[in-house]
Amino acid sequence: MKQFARSARVHLLISLFVIASAFSTGYINATPEQISYKQTENVVYICSSPKAYAYHKSKSCRGLNRCSYEVKSIPKSEATSKYKRSACKVCY
Ligand SMILES: [Zn+2]
Repeated sequence: MKQFARSARVHLLISLFVIASAFSTGYINATPEQISYKQTENVVYICSSPKAYAYHKSKSCRGLNRCSYEVKSIPKSEATSKYKRSACKVCY
C-alpha cells in the first residue's frame, strides 16, 4: 500500500512535468501571432485575368473589384517575379 502511494506520487510528478512542458511549448508557440502578421504583410491579391497588371494590398481594393476573374492571394514575391505584376496605384 505504501509502495502504491509512492508510485502514484511519481506519476503525479511526471504529469506535472508533462503539463509544465506543454505550457512552455505553448509559450513558444505564442509567436504565431507574429508570424501570421508577417504573412499577411507579404500576401498580396491579384486578379487572375490575363489583362490584370497589378497586385493589391487589400482584397477590397477598387481596382480588384472590377475583376471578373478569380482573385488569388499570393506572396508578394510571387506577384512580382512569377506574375510580373506591379503595385496597384490605388491601394499602394
Ligand atoms: Zn489595388
